[in-house]
Amino acid sequence: MSVADEKTVVRDYFNSTGFDRWRRIYGNGQVNKVQLDIRQGHQQTVDRVIDWLKADENLPGLTICDAGCGVGSLSIPLAEAGAVVYGSDISEKMVAEAYERAKNSLSVLQNVTFTAQDLETLQGHYHTVICLDVLIHYPQDQIPEMISHLCSLAESRVILSFAPKTLALSVLKKIGELFPGPSKTTRAYQHREADIVKIFRDNGFSIQRQAMIGTRFYYSRLMEATRT
Ligand code: SAM
Repeated sequence: MSVADEKTVVRDYFNSTGFDRWRRIYGNGQVNKVQLDIRQGHQQTVDRVIDWLKADENLPGLTICDAGCGVGSLSIPLAEAGAVVYGSDISEKMVAEAYERAKNSLSVLQNVTFTAQDLETLQGHYHTVICLDVLIHYPQDQIPEMISHLCSLAESRVILSFAPKTLALSVLKKIGELFPGPSKTTRAYQHREADIVKIFRDNGFSIQRQAMIGTRFYYSRLMEATRT
């Protein structure tokens, strides 16, 4: 599939069935056991990023680009902590939901904006660029360009998460493919950690902090890379 086709499939998914599925997973309402596990795993990823940023003690006023912000699970708490957050997502529906949630939970909206835009066309400069659980939707051959672009937007650092390619997870994924149920999502691509580190290095970034978040059904490798 071409890059443009791949993106259209992802956009359409997150504006339709994917929107309903992920809005529920990223909410507090009733969900099934698998979705609850994914919700909890994802929350751990978000919490870890917030812990990292708060530990630096410079969050107020820091410019942050949250590329592929979804329903604002990270953008909203970062704005609440005083960062100047630019959330964007390829899906108009996700962005609209993020805005609604921000309106309902933040007392002021002046330091957070949400834009419907794919990360490949983002411009500008931000102290920190964050992209959580987005790369899983794209095959390996598209990843170098995506990360390169994110690096070009970042003055200081990029934080991203991806599903790591390990034998155990590959087996799990194969089993999932053999029994596609009604809740089957878009295709999920795993990525090799060494490949991601190399892409960062090629763009002049080196890894500072990393974490592995794993629950029963959610696996995410989290990496912070800073300009060297
Ligand atoms: N980052 C959010 C979080 O962790 O809460 C959302 C993660 S969700 C699994 C993936 C999101 O990436 C969806 O909202 C989807 O619309 C968005 N997305 C997928 N491809 C994208 C692209 N090329 N540019 C921007 N957003 C994209």
